[in-house]
Amino acid sequence: MNFNLKNDQQEMFDLALKFAKNEMIPVAREHDEKETFPKAIIEKAWELGFVNTCLPTEVGGNGFGLLDAVTIGEALSYGCMGMYTSIMCNDLALTPIVIGGSTEQKEKFLKPFTEKPILASFCLTEPGSGSDAAGLKTTIKDNGDHYLLNGSKMWITNAGYADLLLVYCTIDPNLKHKGICALVVPAHLEGITLGKKEEKMGQRCSDTRSVQFENVKVPKENLLGKEGDGWKIAMKTLDHSRPLVSSIALGGARRAIECATEYAKERKQFGVPIAKHQAIQFMLADMTMKLDASRLLVQKAAWQADEGIPNTRAASAGKAMAADSCMQITTDAVQIFGGYGYSREYPVEKLMRDAKLIQIYEGTSQIQRLVIAKDILGK
Ligand SMILES: Cc1cc2nc3c(=O)[nH]c(=O)nc-3n(C[C@H](O)[C@H](O)[C@H](O)COP(=O)(O)OP(=O)(O)OC[C@H]3O[C@@H](n4cnc5c(N)ncnc54)[C@H](O)[C@@H]3O)c2cc1C
Repeated sequence: MNFNLKNDQQEMFDLALKFAKNEMIPVAREHDEKETFPKAIIEKAWELGFVNTCLPTEVGGNGFGLLDAVTIGEALSYGCMGMYTSIMCNDLALTPIVIGGSTEQKEKFLKPFTEKPILASFCLTEPGSGSDAAGLKTTIKDNGDHYLLNGSKMWITNAGYADLLLVYCTIDPNLKHKGICALVVPAHLEGITLGKKEEKMGQRCSDTRSVQFENVKVPKENLLGKEGDGWKIAMKTLDHSRPLVSSIALGGARRAIECATEYAKERKQFGVPIAKHQAIQFMLADMTMKLDASRLLVQKAAWQADEGIPNTRAASAGKAMAADSCMQITTDAVQIFGGYGYSREYPVEKLMRDAKLIQIYEGTSQIQRLVIAKDILGK
C-alpha cells in the first residue's frame, strides 16, 4: 500500500491550493456577505482545468480520475466551500451523461463544457421529495417526437446560471424507481421558470433556486438510456459525486484546523498562549484525527471508483464521516477562537455555517447511514 499522492496529483493539489489562497480567499467573505455568485472565480478555475473534472478525453475533457478530482476539491474548498459547491455541481450534473449517454449525446451535450465555462444543474429534489428521491412527481408525457415535461424542482444549485439541466422525471409516479427517467433539458426552453435565489445560512455565494417546468417540449433524443433507466443512472452518479462532496468537508476542515492552530499559538490567556493549555491541545488533536480519518475514507471511496470496484458503501461512509467531522471540527475552531470566533471578522464562523450544508445535500448524514446499514444487513 502507498498512501502518498502521485507526483502529478500533488502538483495539482499545490496549484489548486495556491489558487484557493490567492484568488478565492481574498473575495470569499464579500461574496458570502453580498450573496453574489462567484462567476469570475469559476471562469478562472475553468481556465486552470479545475471544472468538469469528470469529463472523459473523448469529448475533450482532461480525463481525471475521481481521486484526482477529490484532491483538487479539497484544495479549492479550503478557499471557499460555497464556491467549490458551484464548481463541482457541473460534475454532478454531467456525470449522468458520462454514465448513461450515447456517443452522440456525449458529443452534443458534454463537448460545449470543454469549450467554454458554462454551467449545468442536477435536478433531482422536489418540494415533496428529498431523501425519498424515488417519490418524485415531475412527469414526462410522450407527445410524438418530443416529451412534455411538467413539475417542480427544489434546491437546485447553479440553476440561475445553468445552460443545461439534468432533470429526473417519471413516466408514472406510481412506478416509483422503475418509472424514473434522466432527461437532458436545455435551460432556456419555453415553459421553464426559476424561483428566487434562496437565502441560506451558509455557502451563500452558491446559487440555489427552485425550477418549474410547464409543458416544456423536450426532444426524445435527450433521454439518457431507456425510459425507466433514470434511477440506476442517479444512483451511479451519487457513487461518483459523494466523494467529491466529501472533499468539500476535507477542505473546510483543513482550513478550520489551520486557522485554529495559528490562533491558539498567538492568543494569550493566563500568561501563556492558549495552545499551552492541554484542553486546547486535545481539541486540536481530535480535530486532526477526524480530518485524517475522513480523508482516508474519502480517498479510498474515490480510489475504488477509479479501480472499477463498487464503492456505494465506501462513498456513503466517506460522506457521513467527512461531513459530520467537518461540522464538529469547524464548531471546535469557533470554540478555540472564543468570542472572536463568533465574530464575522474572523473566518471560522463562515466555515461553521458552510459546513452544515454538507450534512444535508447529496443525501443527509442519516441517509448515508441507511445506505451503509443496507449494505451490512442486506436488502
Ligand atoms: C443549499 C442546497 C443545495 C442543494 N442542491 C441540490 C441540487 O443541486 N440538486 C438537487 O437535486 N438537490 C439539491 N439539494 C437538496 C438536498 O439534496 C436535499 O435537501 C436533501 O436530500 C434532503 O432532503 P429534504 O431537504 O427534503 O429533507 P427530508 O428528506 O425531508 O429530511 C428531513 C430530515 O429527516 C431525515 N430523514 C428523512 N428520511 C429519513 C429516514 N428514512 N431515516 C432517517 N432519517 C430520515 C433527514 O435525514 C433529515 O434530517 C440541495 C439542498 C440545499 C439545502
